[in-house]
Amino acid sequence: MNSIMKKKLKIILSGGVIAIGTIVCNVKVVCAYNEEYNNQRKIAYITIDDGPSKYTERIIKILNKHNAKATFFMIDRNMKNYPDQVKSIIENGNTAGFHTVSHDINKLYKDCNSAKDEFDINMKTFYEITGKESKLIRLPYGSKPYTPSKSYENLVESGYKLWDWNIDTEDWKFSSNQIIQNVKNYTQNKNKVVILIHEKQQTVEALDKILVYLVNEGYELLPIDESQKPQNFWSDNLNQ
Ligand SMILES: [Zn+2]
Repeated sequence: MNSIMKKKLKIILSGGVIAIGTIVCNVKVVCAYNEEYNNQRKIAYITIDDGPSKYTERIIKILNKHNAKATFFMIDRNMKNYPDQVKSIIENGNTAGFHTVSHDINKLYKDCNSAKDEFDINMKTFYEITGKESKLIRLPYGSKPYTPSKSYENLVESGYKLWDWNIDTEDWKFSSNQIIQNVKNYTQNKNKVVILIHEKQQTVEALDKILVYLVNEGYELLPIDESQKPQNFWSDNLNQ
């Protein structure tokens, strides 16, 4: 190799290093941007307990109007009573989860397997209706303070993904206007919210305005995905 060729090679090599350096730099910039974007990203998971019910179709219609998706935590007998609504929930892109058979903490925690057994029954009922499975669950009244640690551990070991909430609208005891006001008050300065509502008349009547507010505030209204790390009171990861 003569000296001219060596020089040329050196230039090519150093050019390559600069190019690689630029790519690494750009990757860093993109990563930092994504991280910042993710931190600022506003996401609301609307979670709807105790259905399905005579209100489910109306709820789905309102969600669709806003291109919103939600997560429904369903009680066993209600799935059996409203099988078409169970199908409709998932056909419209929402997520299905379970909310026990008894909805009764005395029965759920009778022994350390009772809660798991109830969710297994939910799974079976859901499979019979839809041919699909789900591992998402929510315990009645939340996973703290009532759930004994052994019951919680058994659920986790069985692969169930347990979700609690960080916005309790207390919709079961309030008027539509107060529910909307609660959502406005409790979501202040929170970018990631898991909102608890129920299939109640006053909640259905409030839902359209709740969704309008959340969209205007910049929240993406997403269904919970089973692959996500569950957010619950045990993991203490709801207030990010
Ligand atoms: Zn409930």
